[in-house]
Amino acid sequence: GKIPSRLMPSSAATSICGYCATGCQLKIHLDENGEAINLSPQAGYPVNLGMACPKGWQALDPLDSPDRATAPLLRDAAGNLVETDWATALDTFTTRLKGIREKHGRDSVAFLSTGQIPFEEMSLLGCLFKFGMGFLHCDANTRQCMATAVTAYKQSFGFDAPPATYADFEESDVIVLVGANLCIAHPILWQRVMRNQRNPDIIVIDPRATETAQAATRHIALKPKGDLALLYALAHCIIRDGRVDEKSLANTEGFAEFAGFLKDYSPAAMAGRTGQTVETIEALARTVSDPDKRVSWWWTMGVNQSHEGVRTAQAIINLCLITGNIGKPGTGPNSITGQCNAMGSRLFSNTTSLVGGHDFSNAAHREKVAQGLGIPVENIPSEYSMAYDEILAAAESGKIKGLWIVATNPFHSWINSGRLAALREKLEFLVVQDMYRTTESAQVADLVLPAAGWGEKDGCFINSERRIGTLKAVRRAPGLALSDFRIFRLIAHSWGCGDLFSEWTHPEAAFKLLRDLTKDRPCDITGIEDYAMIDRLGGVQWPFPKGSEVSQVANLQSRRLFEDGVFHTPDKKARLLFSPPADLPEPPDFEFPYTLLTGRGTSSQWHTQTRTGKSDILRKLYPEHIYLEIHPADARKLGVKDGDVVNIRSRRGDIEAAVYVAPTVQRGQVFMPMHYRQVNQLTHSAFDPHSRQPNYKACAVAITRKKG
Ligand code: SF4
Repeated sequence: GKIPSRLMPSSAATSICGYCATGCQLKIHLDENGEAINLSPQAGYPVNLGMACPKGWQALDPLDSPDRATAPLLRDAAGNLVETDWATALDTFTTRLKGIREKHGRDSVAFLSTGQIPFEEMSLLGCLFKFGMGFLHCDANTRQCMATAVTAYKQSFGFDAPPATYADFEESDVIVLVGANLCIAHPILWQRVMRNQRNPDIIVIDPRATETAQAATRHIALKPKGDLALLYALAHCIIRDGRVDEKSLANTEGFAEFAGFLKDYSPAAMAGRTGQTVETIEALARTVSDPDKRVSWWWTMGVNQSHEGVRTAQAIINLCLITGNIGKPGTGPNSITGQCNAMGSRLFSNTTSLVGGHDFSNAAHREKVAQGLGIPVENIPSEYSMAYDEILAAAESGKIKGLWIVATNPFHSWINSGRLAALREKLEFLVVQDMYRTTESAQVADLVLPAAGWGEKDGCFINSERRIGTLKAVRRAPGLALSDFRIFRLIAHSWGCGDLFSEWTHPEAAFKLLRDLTKDRPCDITGIEDYAMIDRLGGVQWPFPKGSEVSQVANLQSRRLFEDGVFHTPDKKARLLFSPPADLPEPPDFEFPYTLLTGRGTSSQWHTQTRTGKSDILRKLYPEHIYLEIHPADARKLGVKDGDVVNIRSRRGDIEAAVYVAPTVQRGQVFMPMHYRQVNQLTHSAFDPHSRQPNYKACAVAITRKKG
């Protein structure tokens, strides 16, 4: 029969995918009213080259979910969330938070935000909250994903500057993946690895035989959190054998101290701690220091989400610096971020660093930002915010009384999540701004502000290779839902500071303000004229200062940092930083004999399933109910088989899950995917001391078979 005209595309728009930090571009097919009908991956975009993972293909599904928040919701006297209008919602927001501020001071209100919204929105939120509303404490769920990499790069290079370009996957001879399961966490990046024509040695360092480890040429199945000891043992061998790159060393500071420190880290001394033989460590050291090979190192959450993540990331950075694997094709100490705009938040969210890649503690930076944004300089604080865990601890102790959660779901995702129920009781006012009224966080809010989602608004994301790309509104948000950008502007006016943000009229105007702030910073993007230019060039990797040569588009697609050996520290040299490895914060013992590993379980679900759980197709690709991966020998010992239900208990709580017997985990270790609400009732509140990133990766649990 005839295809209904509403299903016939009459035009198309492009958007960067709103899930992971790979930053694939999607082509959205539009009907005659400019509304999205369906989508396909964009051929020719230099990131995904016409590919997308299941989440990208189904990116429109979550927009149609019946549990969208379509009107503001206010908790009534009976304790129910009931619909209200925007005027009442804004008045309540302002009256309640101003009341808390007047009574308890500036430090009594905080926000927790996200790496999932465009950086124009993040930035407006951060600037409004700090410069307009006059608060200080805020953070984002990016603390859970890449705070470690941020701190590691800042300390080592003098600026948070991830050096990679994805072309490096295709140009390496040796690809070392540390705590990174690309096959399912970044499937399109794995496809980039598969395009490598150099027959690369692919080495996976991970306690678990992940999908990527199984596809690799070598799997180093180390003990949980044995990574730092292993990396130091590798550096020990390389320096002992004189396999260092003298030219690269000349661009570093601290080599003598590092070499002295490493004397105690011989392979024999580290064998027990890593679970590796001396021969394995020696062979790996020879491979990663082969002067005739291009060696690239890539890490994700196995490193970042650790009690010593910063030093582990820096141990990788150190290996690249001492072997000369930096600033050249197919090399680099490369962190891959998690969320679609984690990299945007690093530069523009105004949470942990001053907007535009500046420092709150630097008076000249404050002056520059004040002038650029037309904000009185005295409105810009010189102090830094508390980190995520410190904000929650302050709420737990009653110091923070008002909390505003934007596009994130900590009541599911935060480590040791059981603590949040008690914390909720202490809060006087909780606002949740989200697409859905059903998230664990929205359900306990006093006020829910209905937000537009990806596909319903404009802005920019920055991907893991520092590429800025645009997203477009291709659907109308349902009911009274508004873009986060509009909500922040309405709040600014309701609060009485709208005049400070009069130039932030729409996302592209905000982009231009933010662009100009980056002048003369390492992340300078003043060469970008507008959104249309970003689209025309197939995205733009920072830096892109004014005068950048735009005619050489091919050269723009694979730009890596530090090709000149010059870093961003005062003396232009990279720092070799190190500390002795610490013990596991919660090692297994007699009462809790298993080590629980958590992580991503599939390419078809995302984080807390807030969006992906709304797609019928994505749900079919992944088990609906929580499961526990356990080694066959441990399953035999416990007398359980596939599908049996077990109780898993940690010092924080206990949950049930179905058994999945698989040799992918080592004996004494079990794995659970993070996508299910229950998992973080077990995880242990331990944090990296430098980055305050939580350690989701190893805690002690007991497992018992459920009776009956
Ligand atoms: Fe690409 Fe990541 Fe989106 Fe999948 S989720 S399509 S890999 S950006």
